[in-house]
Amino acid sequence: GLFFFSVAFWGDIALDEDDLRMFHIDRTIDLTHPMNSSHESASGPRTQTGKTAAGQTGKAVKAVKSGNTVTSTRYGKTGNAWSVVVKNRVPRAATSRAERIWPGGVIPYIIGGNFTGSQRAMFKQAMRHWEKLTCVTFIEKTEEESYIVFTYRPCGCCSYVGRRGNGPQAISIGKNCDKFGIVVHELGHVIGFWHEHTRPDRDDHVTIIRDNIQPGQEYNFLKMEPGEVNSLGEAYDFDSIMHYARNTFSRGMFLDTILPSRDENGIRPAIGQRTRLSKGDITQARKLYRCPACGETLQESTGNFSSPGYPNGYPSYTHCVWRVSVTPGEKIVLNFTTMDLYKSSLCWYDYIEVRDGYWRKAPLLGRFCGDQGPEGLVSSESRMWIEFRSSSNWVGKGFTAVYEAICGGEILRDQGQIQSPNYPDDYRPSKECVWRITVAEGYNVGLSFQAFEIERHDSCSYDYLEVRDGPAESSPLIGRFCGNDKPEDVRSTSHTLWMKFVSDGTVNKAGFAANFFKEEDECSKPDNGGCEQRCVNTLGSFKCACDPGYELALDKKSCEAACGGLLSKLNGTISSPGWPKEYPPNKNCVWQVVAPTQYRISMQFEPFELEGNEVCKYDFVEVRSGLSSDSKLHGKYCGTEVPQVITSQYNNMRIEFKSDNTVAKKGFKGHFFSDKDECSKDNGGCQHDCINTVGSYVCQCRHGFILHENKHDCKEAECKHKVHSPSGTLNSPNWPDKYPSRKECTWDINTTPGHRVRLVRYTHTWIQIRLVRYTHTWTQSETDTHTPGYRVRLVRYTHTWTQS
Ligand SMILES: [Zn+2]
Repeated sequence: GLFFFSVAFWGDIALDEDDLRMFHIDRTIDLTHPMNSSHESASGPRTQTGKTAAGQTGKAVKAVKSGNTVTSTRYGKTGNAWSVVVKNRVPRAATSRAERIWPGGVIPYIIGGNFTGSQRAMFKQAMRHWEKLTCVTFIEKTEEESYIVFTYRPCGCCSYVGRRGNGPQAISIGKNCDKFGIVVHELGHVIGFWHEHTRPDRDDHVTIIRDNIQPGQEYNFLKMEPGEVNSLGEAYDFDSIMHYARNTFSRGMFLDTILPSRDENGIRPAIGQRTRLSKGDITQARKLYRCPACGETLQESTGNFSSPGYPNGYPSYTHCVWRVSVTPGEKIVLNFTTMDLYKSSLCWYDYIEVRDGYWRKAPLLGRFCGDQGPEGLVSSESRMWIEFRSSSNWVGKGFTAVYEAICGGEILRDQGQIQSPNYPDDYRPSKECVWRITVAEGYNVGLSFQAFEIERHDSCSYDYLEVRDGPAESSPLIGRFCGNDKPEDVRSTSHTLWMKFVSDGTVNKAGFAANFFKEEDECSKPDNGGCEQRCVNTLGSFKCACDPGYELALDKKSCEAACGGLLSKLNGTISSPGWPKEYPPNKNCVWQVVAPTQYRISMQFEPFELEGNEVCKYDFVEVRSGLSSDSKLHGKYCGTEVPQVITSQYNNMRIEFKSDNTVAKKGFKGHFFSDKDECSKDNGGCQHDCINTVGSYVCQCRHGFILHENKHDCKEAECKHKVHSPSGTLNSPNWPDKYPSRKECTWDINTTPGHRVRLVRYTHTWIQIRLVRYTHTWTQSETDTHTPGYRVRLVRYTHTWTQS
């Protein structure tokens, strides 16, 4: 099918940390040009070659990779086959190898936060598939040190092989692999399986077509060395869910990368199924985890089981384990309908042990033998462990037992999970479950939904979940929920919460999964949650907040003076946070001062003391015209020199203060005041020049004009000038604009006795006249006259004279 095809084409990667490191370096090596034509053998001592940590021997094929540290890698060619050749091995301790197997087959997990409800449900289905067919157990991580995390990593679909130990390990479920069969496959890596086609004996069963492999992906086809893996005696398994498909990592969809050999009938077996565990997968996993040969995992909501050979007698030295696993939120009621076991003191020889939990270390509910079957045993959670051992030669009928999952009930725990019956599969029709959750006194109950899908109805009258704030059906209603929208988190006001799930006779959906936990109002504690000002309680946590004018400091508990903000007053004061105390580290404040149009803002710093000198790379104040951080910069200031008054270009100003995480100083205080620039509009009504002053403005007229009585207009001044100064400039009227027509101006220049006036420079734009000693002489461009008291008629030019 297409699903299968596209999946196979993409491929996934089985890795451990050593591989990640070594392949990162070596995956660029061109496999068509081997660096070495012969195998290099291990140089260090080796132990337990061909054995799994569980100590089982067999023809070395599939299973757990040895724990040897790879220090360098080479690829070599041996006949037609390719294999990883590793040198300088350092064998790990035996315990290190054992760590690759999950102790007791128990694998704690966490599902990362970014997956949808249906993805979570599918992961759970995949885990239940493994649980159903083998003796591994997936539990939600609580205190365990080593666990897997369903997540999404750049590698897409990939997983470590086996248990890595010392903390979390990723099982990456990318976009192309969030399918049930692929998750089962990835979980196979987690459990300890490499890809089937990397078995050392694979060349007897498949042909790898190197030329068709996508460049860079060749390493996924490298053969493991004998000793790396252990088949546990199982034959090569074409049907394994751990086998690549024919075109995995192919250069093109229709190019085979792995070609299975023809069987005796000339048929190439199919490879790469991602539907279910194969018989071989199940057998190998059961061997790897030394699952008891007898017993099974029961996941239905009702069921029965019996001792082997019942009623014709059980063999001696029998060991069976039945694991009952129903939906979280349900409990198991177990009844023995027949019991006929060899009776001994303390049930020493033949016995049944029933434990309240998922494994052999769970609390013992009872140990039974003889013909005294226990009354209905009830689990406290959704799993039960039943172990049967015989060591006598006595022949009795054995036993039969039935169980039933019951939903709802009293829950006296501080945290746990509740799911609708049969979740993540569809809930059953005509169900009614009532849970009453009680957590420790003095706490509230918090309820947080992971997934929610209940038949939709406007008033939720068919299928629904009802939550009440208290211990009973009469307690105040928090909500009645249905549909596909996850309800908001719930918090009770006391330490009890009442929940009822109801399904009618028809449409069934996946239901819901929710976590409950004891919830505490940290803010009601005497220390106010450690908050300096305000404490805000949230579900499962709390946060501190601050009064207006303050903001949360870096420690998220104390408050410090807020800084920055939008200021629209005409004048005011700003200061560094904490003023007049030292400013806090790592602070960034931005003040934006906005004045009405036509106004200009002036900033005057009074005291000023910031870390730094001219460079201002640590702490600084920046002043800009405008509101954005890329507006025109007036200056960046630090140190102790008080900046000059800064006036904005237009009607707004931005002041930014920044402190680093080191030296703190006193900071600054600054006054801003806005002044209307009357000249900015219609030139203040002035005919010529408008000069703005604080609070007012004045008009000025150009040369040759004087201010009219109305203080705005300019009128022509008479163009007769008496000049007495020893040097100066003469302007033609209206300079530098055009002089008016029909204008005659005179300058009577009376020099100091004994001097004369000399025109010293003359260009198109100006004439320079100099007073020369002793004689009164006018000098002009064209003519030199020597008449004392000469009246110069000057038009157009500027004349400058100085005393010589
Ligand atoms: Zn894989």
